[in-house]
Amino acid sequence: MNNSTLISTVFRKEVLAMAAYKVANAQGYIKLDAMENPYSWPEEIQNQWLEHLKDCQLNRYPDPEAVQLVNTIRAINQLPEQFDILLGNGSDEIIQLLLMALPQGASVLAPVPGFVMYKQISDCLGLNYISVPVLADGFDLDLPAMLSAIAKAQPLLIFLAYPNNPTSNLFSADAMHQVIKAAPGLVVVDEAYAPFANASFIDQLGQYDNLLIMRTVSKLGLAGLRLGYVMGQPALIEQLNKIRLPYNINCLTQMTADFALVNRAFFTEQTEKICAQRAYVFNELQQMEGILPYPSAANFILFKVPHNKATDIFLAIKQQGVLIKNMAGQGGLLSDCLRVTIGKPDENKAFLSALRHGLAELNL
Ligand SMILES: *Cc1c(COP(=O)(O)O)cnc(C)c1O
Repeated sequence: MNNSTLISTVFRKEVLAMAAYKVANAQGYIKLDAMENPYSWPEEIQNQWLEHLKDCQLNRYPDPEAVQLVNTIRAINQLPEQFDILLGNGSDEIIQLLLMALPQGASVLAPVPGFVMYKQISDCLGLNYISVPVLADGFDLDLPAMLSAIAKAQPLLIFLAYPNNPTSNLFSADAMHQVIKAAPGLVVVDEAYAPFANASFIDQLGQYDNLLIMRTVSKLGLAGLRLGYVMGQPALIEQLNKIRLPYNINCLTQMTADFALVNRAFFTEQTEKICAQRAYVFNELQQMEGILPYPSAANFILFKVPHNKATDIFLAIKQQGVLIKNMAGQGGLLSDCLRVTIGKPDENKAFLSALRHGLAELNL
């Protein structure tokens, strides 16, 4: 058997058709491409954490239920006892668990532009992924289009990112309620950017049996740990728990996340700085000729540039040592868009200055 026959025999057609999720090499760049918190920990906190880690027994399997961490997460989210929590190796793993649990060929629905992993994993599993475009003006849900797609395709899972990535807006809560009511299956409200948003559907868990709220510690400032969680009815969590790998949250993550969340006051400070810088960057972008920034409830800003210039501008900024995200490849509403993560004040200044220089260089 030759190699290409081997590959095409062994791997499912869905896998063969996929492209790997590519992450740009950021070495040497000011990194404003991945919605990371730019700040490290206060030294005193860091030392306390290292002291804690000494108690980690690396020769033993971690607590499969991560009881202590789950209790901390319950407390900080003020999640009532009647709901359960499931932890994942990043919320990416929770998206995967949810999709793996669906019947073969089931439909999955989400607004587009949206978070790419929903589609990536659905495609891999051979599910029927349906994208419903958001409104071009303001990126809110197109409610009639959503409701008609729901009626037609009967999706068993709907993802609503709140705020949405990469458009950074909060969908109208009323439209979200109508989608949740119309859904024949589960609705996952993905609150990855909750630390920056001042809005949540957690309080609605009691209203809807089919609602799940998903969160992550990544955007808060722990992207390197890989920890996400989903909250909802115990009967739903129980099913997901069956397909979770028993030790999916390693002991270093359990201990570190628990420590960080218990001491989270410093995150609040960092988040406030990021939100203040978000207002500053937005203002600066708004004053640049030809640039249209969109209002953001997250830690990044999506902005529109002159037609067909997104890639040139992205490269000109990169040339000056600043890495942001080029959205042009995703087409549609994003074809003239770039996305910048809010960094430290000096990083944001470097980005703004690189953008100004880039625009001048390109005679824009
Ligand atoms: C970043 C992001 C995630 C993934 O978070 P991890 O916990 O790091 O896997 C999920 N959903 C949205 C909308 C995101 O932007």
